[in-house]
Amino acid sequence: MDFPTDCIFCKIANKKTGTEIVYKGKGIVAFRDINPIAPVHILIVPKRHIESVNDLTERDASLVGRMVIAAKDIAKELNIAEDGYKLLFRTGKHGGQEVNHIHLHLIGGAALHEEIRPLNVDWK
Ligand code: AMP
Ligand code: ZN
Repeated sequence: MDFPTDCIFCKIANKKTGTEIVYKGKGIVAFRDINPIAPVHILIVPKRHIESVNDLTERDASLVGRMVIAAKDIAKELNIAEDGYKLLFRTGKHGGQEVNHIHLHLIGGAALHEEIRPLNVDWK
């Protein structure tokens, strides 16, 4: 399968690294975030290289749906479903996206801070 050779998530999804894959679904894999911000921090990624939410099209609808369902299944498997968690797609510069291969963060295992707010306090 062809993929951008400089994309770390393509490499992980195509098993070119030692990263443990914790979930496999149709066209999807999941693995632990290397720098977790909570006790559970998993990234769900499509095997196909898509840069960000901005690049999704109608044909990706079932893929994105499967990513969310995968997150829900993993949350259940890790026993955090009942207490809850956050699902997050960072997108672009303002969204804080650092890896340009679309990924869904599954974050939980502890009560999470409520804040998702602009850096600039004067935005109003
Ligand atoms: P984002 O800021 O949404 O682009 O998130 C990128 C996430 O990928 C960060 O939370 C990083 O800690 C994580 N990350 C970067 N490189 C790796 C890697 N090789 N394996 C696992 N997670 C990674
Ligand atoms: Zn990629």
